[in-house]
This record gives sequence, C-alpha cells and structure tokens, in this order.
Amino acid sequence: MAWVDGAWHPTAPVRVLEFPTDGPPRWRLDGLVHARRIGTLAAACGSSAAEWPMLMTEPFDHRAPEACAVCVATLLGTERLAR
Ligand SMILES: [Zn+2]
Repeated sequence: MAWVDGAWHPTAPVRVLEFPTDGPPRWRLDGLVHARRIGTLAAACGSSAAEWPMLMTEPFDHRAPEACAVCVATLLGTERLAR
C-alpha cells in the first residue's frame, strides 16, 4: 500500500488539475518528477522539495519518462524496486 512508512512518492515544483473525460478531476505533476518520502524536506536527489506538492496516494514511478534521473539512480542504488 502506498501509505506504508518509507514509501517513495512523486513530487514536483508544479502541479496542474486535470479534467479527464472519463473520470473525476485529478492532480498531475508537471515537468520533472522527483521521489520523496512523507515527512522529509528533500527529494531523493537532494533537491529541496519542502514546498513542492506531492502525490501521497501514488507511488513514485521510476520508469516514467518524466522521472528525475538522479532520483531514480538514488532509489535503484539503495533499494530494490519491482520492475
Ligand atoms: Zn530528483
């Protein structure tokens, strides 16, 4: 479950509200997406993320094309992620 302690969640400086035709409005992060843990002030790559919005109900997707390469490398280097 995404709420487990220590889980990585997507975070980015900007988020936009989307209005998909097939569902309710939802937040989407814009631009480079970083990985961050709940309760921490910085992303995995070291970027200061204290004021960035964070999708706490979603896991960070290290395979996403917009994922921060440094965050991905940090996560893959410290943890085994399911592929
Ligand atoms: Zn990053």
